[in-house]
Amino acid sequence: MSNNSQSQSVMIISVVIGSLCGCLVVVIIVVVLLVARFRRRSASLNLNVEIPVTINYSAPGMDLTMTGSGAGLPMLEQTSIARQTTLIEQIGCGRYGNVWKGRWMEQYVAVKVFASKDEQSWAREVEIYQTAMLRHTNILGFIAADNNDNGAWTQLWLVTDYCEFGSLFDFLTQNAIDGKTMLKLVESASAGLAHLHLAVQGLQGKPAIAHRDIKSRNYLVKKDCSCCLGDFGLAVSHDVLSNRLTIPQTTKVGTIRYMAPEILDESMNYGSFEAYKQADIYSLALVIWEITSRCSLTGDIEDYRQPYEDMVEADPSFEEMAQVVSKKQVRPLIPDNWQQDKLICRVSQIIEECWSNSPSARLSALRIKKSLKQMMNNS
Ligand code: ADP
Ligand code: MG
Repeated sequence: MSNNSQSQSVMIISVVIGSLCGCLVVVIIVVVLLVARFRRRSASLNLNVEIPVTINYSAPGMDLTMTGSGAGLPMLEQTSIARQTTLIEQIGCGRYGNVWKGRWMEQYVAVKVFASKDEQSWAREVEIYQTAMLRHTNILGFIAADNNDNGAWTQLWLVTDYCEFGSLFDFLTQNAIDGKTMLKLVESASAGLAHLHLAVQGLQGKPAIAHRDIKSRNYLVKKDCSCCLGDFGLAVSHDVLSNRLTIPQTTKVGTIRYMAPEILDESMNYGSFEAYKQADIYSLALVIWEITSRCSLTGDIEDYRQPYEDMVEADPSFEEMAQVVSKKQVRPLIPDNWQQDKLICRVSQIIEECWSNSPSARLSALRIKKSLKQMMNNS
């Protein structure tokens, strides 16, 4: 080989090796930047990035309504789902921004958009949804969370299953129901709360969680006329092993109309987790009363009425509710004709036990769920 062609070969080899090294360096830099960015996001969200055991959301066009146990999708997948979602129309507004019907792939989803000043509420609700083992047929299905900082503002999104009948409040205002639907709604509402309240011990355990804002507007009605519980912005969790309670920022929270007598007269023991569960049960009793009031088994069906609608102002104050619920110990009316039907009569006994003035006399959500299951099997 001539000197000339030898030096040409050396040059070609050097160029090839040099280019390969260059590419490798670029790839390494990109990977390092991506990992660092992902870590930063995960840390700032303080979210669990564990890959769930039983759910696989990654296939396009998959069924988002499937259930199982798990803490949620990895953050990167959540971000990509959220960013492929388009908003269609606004379907609700609440305390912390607006809820939209959206589309992801071929499916409808619900997107709760938080104002950036409510980042804490968004983070709290996302944290609750990411709790291991929270997934349940009667808990609103969580899909993804995203905090997208576009430079000018931060978009805080919470993507969940879309429930086409809207909230239980919307459903009851628009529909009278038969006995079967009444039992299904009451059973599913108590099953969702029973699962939330449940503590599962062990490595893949679940803390007990109290909701603190149980009301018909926070239950969503699914296609099959069962309902699921949503809106976990005020929830408190209790780790059984360490007996650690996530201390709420304020004690007088929730919706005044649905507040338990012990919250209204300020006698509640805020250090005891049991007390939060018992307060949830009082509010659930009002929700069961709302459902039962719209049941056609009682003969004449009245228009939908909110609990205490004829006893307090449209937007009652804390003091006004305290006067009615704690001081006078008044409860919504149970009409006489509820005694004429065996099913409704039994449900009304459950309601009365659950809105007892004495928190410890109230039934547990699990007990209510079991009684309702039995009634469904026998009817
Ligand atoms: P907020 O914390 O602001 O009260 P919610 O989560 O309770 O927000 O949602 C407010 C309202 O938006 C609900 O009462 C309901 O009417 C509607 N909504 C919320 N989530 C869904 C959903 N997944 N499907 C259909 N409607 C929903
Ligand atoms: Mg709400």
